[in-house]
Amino acid sequence: MSPETGQIVEKVRELLNAFERTGPSSDVRTRVLALVPAFDSVRDLGKSLLPDGLTMSARDRLLAYFRMYPQQVLREKELAIVAGISEWARRVRELRVQYGWKIVTGVTANQMADVGDFSPLDGLAGELGSNDYMLVDPAQDRDSAYRWNIANQIRRGPEGGQSKILKYLRANVGSAVTGEELSYVAQSSEWARRVRELRTEEGWPISTKMSGNPSLPVGVYVLEVDRQAPAHDRHISDAVRRHAMQRDGYACRNCGWSHGLWNSSDPRFLELHHKKHHADGGSNELENLVTLCNVCHDQLHKRGENG
Ligand SMILES: [Zn+2]
Ligand SMILES: [Zn+2]
Repeated sequence: MSPETGQIVEKVRELLNAFERTGPSSDVRTRVLALVPAFDSVRDLGKSLLPDGLTMSARDRLLAYFRMYPQQVLREKELAIVAGISEWARRVRELRVQYGWKIVTGVTANQMADVGDFSPLDGLAGELGSNDYMLVDPAQDRDSAYRWNIANQIRRGPEGGQSKILKYLRANVGSAVTGEELSYVAQSSEWARRVRELRTEEGWPISTKMSGNPSLPVGVYVLEVDRQAPAHDRHISDAVRRHAMQRDGYACRNCGWSHGLWNSSDPRFLELHHKKHHADGGSNELENLVTLCNVCHDQLHKRGENG
């Protein structure tokens, strides 16, 4: 315990003693007023737990705490203690939308989990209550102010939620966006389902940790390239997609490319190819699918082979 924390603990004890001395026979307001200083000091106690916590702003304390425990479920009460203010949730929102920290709330995580885009294997989805929070990626997104403007423009547009989601992803090709952002843009509790449909039915290469790119943090989506899969390669369910890629070790079966080799000068991604052309009766079953990088996949189709 730091000397500061020790001093505050002493002070809280004294203030609680003073409160006790008001006695049960005192009137209620006297007792309430006697409790105020103890209440304030307990808040200071919470602030003092972080290094330099007493001299930081509430927002900076929250950020420091999130960064100490990335990818861990943080409960609302502990955040209230660290923040030391009652308006702490607003500060978390600022960190998220204005400062670009990838913080997801339990509400969006559970909406992702409902459609299989938040790993139950991580043991987090069910654990993340609607008022809990998690910093999914310890890196700050420097473009967040720009993205925030785009999100607001798209959100105000006349289209439906799914078109808004697609528009937003296409404005952020190759970068991770959080479920929070997509939920905000779509203005619909069904947003996670709409994202999944864009992937499984419309053929947009939208990866999550659970679907297509295990190297991503949980809670984020990446539109890998601004291109829809050829119509015949669409309509593959997430479960089959996941199994096929797992079976192939998340690597191209032709050249061996995997996400670990990703670099910006050659931004590849993995997709599934039908060995027997869908139009020729090839099925969407596991046995008929093979994982290829988009480069090998394009070459294969240019050579005019089936599928
Ligand atoms: Zn390849
Ligand atoms: Zn193909």
